[in-house]
Amino acid sequence: MNEEDVKRRITDYQQAVGVNPLTCGNNSQHEKLYPKVLEQGLVLLCPNCKYTQTYIPDLFFDDGFYDWLRGMKNLS
Ligand SMILES: [Zn+2]
Repeated sequence: MNEEDVKRRITDYQQAVGVNPLTCGNNSQHEKLYPKVLEQGLVLLCPNCKYTQTYIPDLFFDDGFYDWLRGMKNLS
């Protein structure tokens, strides 16, 4: 799985209903983080401030990610 695949997964996750979206570490009232591939690799950025999260949760690398996400949607 390459960074673009993981980026797509994060985008799908952030738009999904029924999950806790990844949010800014400076202010949780800021808009949801969005993924971007920078020189140092894939990161999560805040649209409202300079917050950058380099840690990508293991969930997004899991083979069962989309099965899990579909399950979350069915529950909501
Ligand atoms: Zn922020």
